[in-house]
Amino acid sequence: MYGSIEAGGTKFVCAVANEDLEIIERVSFPTTTPEETMELVIRFFKVYQNKLKGIGIGSFGPIDVDQDSLTYGYITTTPKTSWQNFNFVGAMKEHFSLPIAWTTDVNAAAYGEYAFGKGKGLSSVVYYTIGTGIGGGALQNGRFVEGFSHPEMGHMMVMPHKKDSFTGNCPFHGNCLEGMAAGPAIEKRTGKKGQNIQQDDELWDIEAYYIAQCAYNTTLMLSPDVIIFGGGVMKQHHMIKKVQQAFENLMQGYVKTPSLTNYIVTPELEDNAGTLGCLALAKEVEIHS
Ligand code: ADP
Ligand code: ZN
Repeated sequence: MYGSIEAGGTKFVCAVANEDLEIIERVSFPTTTPEETMELVIRFFKVYQNKLKGIGIGSFGPIDVDQDSLTYGYITTTPKTSWQNFNFVGAMKEHFSLPIAWTTDVNAAAYGEYAFGKGKGLSSVVYYTIGTGIGGGALQNGRFVEGFSHPEMGHMMVMPHKKDSFTGNCPFHGNCLEGMAAGPAIEKRTGKKGQNIQQDDELWDIEAYYIAQCAYNTTLMLSPDVIIFGGGVMKQHHMIKKVQQAFENLMQGYVKTPSLTNYIVTPELEDNAGTLGCLALAKEVEIHS
């Protein structure tokens, strides 16, 4: 069996699956303190201890993914103070002597789509989540694109929309992509949550303009085979077409991309991308251990 931990800022989702990565049990609990939350995680996996061959973790971050670092496996400078400098992989290793795959939550979702969803069979896949925050992960031939650390693509700079007077709410950069286009930015700008805003509201043109800039920057930097936009905000199904159109306006034909309906897309696995990605990573890490 394989285990997965999707460690999000608001909730943890843990699952176990069989050899074919079919999910056998899945549980979810709120992210409180490491003491409380990890106790529930450990208790869940203890039941399957003798059958487990590997565990994949996709965590909120920033996290340390540098295998040579003394703090590999730690959550590092997160705004959630009780989780700062928490040795996540170490805490798991204390209880389970198993191979453990460790990456960001959004990389795990990217891997899920790469292995089983819209990225299947492609060599270069980029995945963004537009939710409480904005994060991005990129895969090249089955490996995450990273150097000294994992990417932080959600904080790329964007040009303000002409009709948008909102100045952004990222505590670090103000009007970066996350500061302008994540769910809380929509709520702060309009006084309403995205799920309560009508489809024909001008807000969605503004939102699409920012997401299109993200697709534009991604295209120019990586020329991937596909760019997938998931997360709560993309549950507005009319949005993806608006993003494709705004992207076309920005690109002005400079780069000939694949057909936009296959190139700028929503996830196939919806909310399962993270769990399936963690499970696939658990299997990978076990095979190579
Ligand atoms: P998280 O990022 O916390 O894992 P989500 O991806 O669900 O969770 O993102 C939550 C954000 O997405 C909230 O700001 C919420 O208002 C927004 N959101 C959720 N559902 C929708 C929807 N149907 N339309 C627009 N915005 C939504
Ligand atoms: Zn930012």
